[in-house]
Amino acid sequence: MRGELNDTALLRTAAYVDGVWAGTGDSGAFTVRDPSTGEELAKLPKLSRAQTASAIGAAHRALPGWRARSGKERAGILRRWFDLVTEHSEDLARLIVLEEGKPFAEAVAEVAYAASFLEWFAEEAKRVRGDVMASPERSRRIVVLQEPVGVCAAITPWNFPAAMITRKAGPALAAGCTMVLKPAEQTPLTALALAELAERAGVPAGVFNVVTGDPREIGPELTGNPLVRKVTFTGSTEVGRLLLAQSAATVKKTSMELGGNAPFLVFDDADVDVAVEGLIATKYRNTGQACISANRVYVQDGVYDAFAARLTERVCRLVVGDGFDEGVQQGPLIDDDAVAKVEHHVTDAHAKGATVLCGGERHPRGGLFYRPTVLAGVTAEMAVTREETFGPVTPLQRFTDEAEAVRLANDTEYGLAAYLFTRDAERVWRVGAALEAGMVGINTGLISNEVAPFGGVKQSGLGREGSIYGIAEYLETKYLAWEGA
Ligand code: ADP
Repeated sequence: MRGELNDTALLRTAAYVDGVWAGTGDSGAFTVRDPSTGEELAKLPKLSRAQTASAIGAAHRALPGWRARSGKERAGILRRWFDLVTEHSEDLARLIVLEEGKPFAEAVAEVAYAASFLEWFAEEAKRVRGDVMASPERSRRIVVLQEPVGVCAAITPWNFPAAMITRKAGPALAAGCTMVLKPAEQTPLTALALAELAERAGVPAGVFNVVTGDPREIGPELTGNPLVRKVTFTGSTEVGRLLLAQSAATVKKTSMELGGNAPFLVFDDADVDVAVEGLIATKYRNTGQACISANRVYVQDGVYDAFAARLTERVCRLVVGDGFDEGVQQGPLIDDDAVAKVEHHVTDAHAKGATVLCGGERHPRGGLFYRPTVLAGVTAEMAVTREETFGPVTPLQRFTDEAEAVRLANDTEYGLAAYLFTRDAERVWRVGAALEAGMVGINTGLISNEVAPFGGVKQSGLGREGSIYGIAEYLETKYLAWEGA
């Protein structure tokens, strides 16, 4: 296998339930493939609904012991998990390249990002606190406690196979919750390696479980089982809506990190070079497969031509290939559907009058590779503007004034990230306030880190991950009315 691991025990091909590796799925098996080569990497068990219920049962049994530990004890275990993830960073990165396809350097960066959530929430575990309030009655005290929500179900996507897990498991375990995780079927190997390291770090059996298999079999149990008190999801808006509807029956708490359609605004007073580099960073990272990738690029008349020329020159030079090869900057897309969507967006834009400045077709390597693309003369009617492309395609559209830019930017049901390039501080405040988005990058295309609150408004989601706010998603407020206190 390419990307041989130093620690071969990190390659796990079984589900992880109640501290035991379960190699047999009652619903059969499924294959994990390398998107760069199409080769089979592993066969994993397809767990049945009943096996998923057993995992939930294990998480439920583990809950009293885990929540009874002090925050400091849980912090120590999370910190050891962080240390082990950091120590095994290269192996985890190899697994990410193998099953997801991103360039190795990006995979190493993802592991550092993933680890940062374990470190951060190890620190936050010690800081969960309540309140004591003055009561309207003289004889009383109002005491407010923050308690763990309980058993959490997590469903994560394939595009960041490590970070999307630790961003949920970190705060959940820190708060005293237990978890059943269903990773994406394309990228379960990274999730299982993380479980192996969690076990080595001392996470007790049942506290963190990984179930593998078909989402349509596992999903309804995770959202329907009354023992699960919280569903946390990162993925498409379409699936998010379904999970919300399913969770409604048992009134579960939910956190949803859903799709985006990020606008990227470049004003006449921007530094064009900074804007081009910002766009490359947000658009071509992970071959455009990120929910905060710029999806619509609006450039003001005065700098449009200069921006388009510099961007095209940069994008045409991006090196496409196998993520393990030196110097590669763009990997394959994840699967045939992803390539078909990118092709459809480019063909539709072209048919409706857009010009291809660069790329615009499959890469000569074949398979799941697509050439990094820049389209000019894009309009609001094109699919590339209306939908999330999730691929290496930049659609350029002109605007004349600020009000028009804000109107175009907000003309979407999504509201995850937005980007704004200008050197005018007053414009930063005005436009920053007017944009309907959970996160706004100002003169930067890189906005994610463990300290900042990540999340969206409108149909991009509910709740925030990371930051001092992230742990609140896993805590429930309880109030004690203390008479005679
Ligand atoms: P993407 O388009 O990025 O693959 P999805 O929303 O389809 O996004 O997938 C994100 C996660 O949601 C994956 O783990 C996938 O298995 C899971 N998923 C997909 N469909 C369902 C479903 N019907 N019920 C529960 N989980 C699902």
